[in-house]
Amino acid sequence: MSEIIDGKAVAARIKETAKARAAEFERVAGRKVGLAVVRVGDDPASCIYVRNKVKACEQCGVASYTYLFDEKTTQSELIEFLGKLNADGKIDGILVQLPLPEHIDERACIAAISPQKDADGFNVVNAGKLFLGERDGTIACTPRGIIELIKATGVPIAGKHAVVIGRSNIVGKPIAALLLNNDATVTVCHSKTRDLRDYTLTADILVAAVGKKHFVTADMIKRGAVVIDVGMNRDETGLYGDVDYDNAKNVAGYITPVPGGVGPMTVAMLILNTVDGARNE
Ligand code: NAP
Repeated sequence: MSEIIDGKAVAARIKETAKARAAEFERVAGRKVGLAVVRVGDDPASCIYVRNKVKACEQCGVASYTYLFDEKTTQSELIEFLGKLNADGKIDGILVQLPLPEHIDERACIAAISPQKDADGFNVVNAGKLFLGERDGTIACTPRGIIELIKATGVPIAGKHAVVIGRSNIVGKPIAALLLNNDATVTVCHSKTRDLRDYTLTADILVAAVGKKHFVTADMIKRGAVVIDVGMNRDETGLYGDVDYDNAKNVAGYITPVPGGVGPMTVAMLILNTVDGARNE
């Protein structure tokens, strides 16, 4: 039976750190750390995520400024607005909630955010710094949170075989780079990978970022492995991870639940990224 990695508890500790740093910033700068949250359209999941992020700001003493745009907003209107936020002295971090409507190019919008205010760490400058192993960039929130969860188990990362399923720019690639920077031997799997189970069965650390409910079954997991489930798959019956948790927990050494695993860490790291960005200005 595996040990459950309590993402809520680890996230609470990260938020306490962020709160203390935000209070120190306010004392020195004479204003609160500020996070701009930009949402375009009314995607229901995005509304929930934005609400959670605003709530976390309140808990940590960070001022949040929410900007809601109509679904029909054009790309150039959005980019022009992001330019204003870049120049706004009360804003230290900018978050554009993804996904954006189809007529807007997400890459162009992320590129329009100043790297210094890129709280999500998705900008090419910050992504590039991560891949070069430079420490002064902003690391994407979900991967940064995953590393903290693995460290919370006490299992050393160095020398371990880490297998990441998924190669997206926001989860798969950056977590692979971070694990490599932490001296793991990393294998990245994706939809064209043949015989996936051959790889997952050799994983000391398995990160599932696929976006498919219960995709990783117990027979794909090495006994005793650290299993991190990034998936957030909603259907009419509830929220599910990418891992078949009920059976996987009998094989894994440590495992994150969904909800209550990676999700709370993503929000906590967003706040910490914003506060750290303000302190580095
Ligand atoms: P994504 O962009 O859709 O990427 C999914 C990845 O899974 C792709 O690289 C894809 O391969 C791979 N894949 C799909 N089918 C596969 C298969 N049969 N075998 C092996 N690999 C396969 O998704 P994402 O944005 O990375 O998100 C992944 C999941 O994490 C989603 O459920 C999302 O909601 C969740 N998420 C959670 C948080 C959080 O805070 N907890 C944050 C971000 C995302 P190809 O590249 O070959 O297509």
